[in-house]
Amino acid sequence: MSDPDLLQIVQREAHVRIDLDRYAINIATLKDLAGPDRDLMAVVKADAYGHGAVMCARTALENGATYLAVARKWEGIRLREAGVTAPVLVLGGANPAALEIAARHNLTLTVGSMSIATAIEDVASRQPVTVHLKLDTGLHRYGLQPDDALSVASRFKANPNVNLEGIYAHFSSADEIDCRPTEAQLGSAHDVLTSLEQQGFEFRYVHFSNSAALLTGATGQSNLVRTGIASYGLRPSQDVPLPDGIRQVMSVHGQLSRVFMLSQGEGVSYGLTYLATEAEPAGVVSIGYADGLPRSLSNQGWFVVNGQRSPIRGRVCMDQTVIGLPGLEAEQIDVIIAGDGSGGEMTLDDIATLDGTINYEVATRFALRMPRVYVRDGVPVDFELRSITS
Ligand SMILES: *Cc1c(COP(=O)(O)O)cnc(C)c1O
Repeated sequence: MSDPDLLQIVQREAHVRIDLDRYAINIATLKDLAGPDRDLMAVVKADAYGHGAVMCARTALENGATYLAVARKWEGIRLREAGVTAPVLVLGGANPAALEIAARHNLTLTVGSMSIATAIEDVASRQPVTVHLKLDTGLHRYGLQPDDALSVASRFKANPNVNLEGIYAHFSSADEIDCRPTEAQLGSAHDVLTSLEQQGFEFRYVHFSNSAALLTGATGQSNLVRTGIASYGLRPSQDVPLPDGIRQVMSVHGQLSRVFMLSQGEGVSYGLTYLATEAEPAGVVSIGYADGLPRSLSNQGWFVVNGQRSPIRGRVCMDQTVIGLPGLEAEQIDVIIAGDGSGGEMTLDDIATLDGTINYEVATRFALRMPRVYVRDGVPVDFELRSITS
């Protein structure tokens, strides 16, 4: 760990705690669920949904994942620069720019359109490139249509510099109760696969399923699954429960920076949207919307202080939030801002519900400014500051 003094400071301000033991168990549990015939691709895009891409990538690879996935080419290059040598798939239709740089860093590229296919052939005229074909089976974001997939595969087969390693598709509605869209998408993917196999194509990796599809058993004829949200201990939706043993990896902590008494009739924070109906102890916590705590939680959410629910009073500011306290607590004591709910605190799902969004967005927003402390066996083992300048 680089600087113990800095860690002291970090732990005395609002920070995100990442429980690496839980992440490791989640990955191993998902790998078990995928079964011996399916590889696990750990999706670490968006800085591992706010959990830290490099640390999560390493932990995932040590616990059963064999492939990583990112959304941007630079995210993959960052993993390479951190010394990660495992295969990394760049998801996304991407744009043709910088494909060559990505290929030089040994990233696996997605071919999700005819223009990317052409750009890949151009790169392959100078250097080898590994690709996965992405089919559009109904999500209608990016992906090759079935006929195009066949023609691209044939073109690539004739090109010794193109390693056509995989083929994949992505579900639109795997986290919903109605499984018909998922079945229809699996059906189209299987049709394309069958045609390709009849023409002699073989793929080392065939993958269709995200977390929701793995958890609901919609894996089809695949030999790899891509899991993001469930690996972080978060459910893909209200309708898809997590298996036993999977627990939330991220928690958010802060401290009471000031404790004071509000008198009856006094208002709190910008706009004075909370008025004390009676004298009430209150406290200030240094976390705000710039840290990813949604401003829509003004007068709505709660933190936990000394085991007690402490409601947010008035508006969440950029850097501070005022809460009502059960009593005149000591200043500088720890405040649980969010966690798995076991101490009565808001879960990421609670925050998502209050904010009208999904846990995916809540987790990624907490990565905006707050430092991240990695914990193993309950002890900090490393930390990262959010970089403002680079
Ligand atoms: C983000 C992403 C995933 C991971 O989805 P989760 O719901 O987080 O498991 C899988 N596949 C693709 C193509 C993605 O973009």
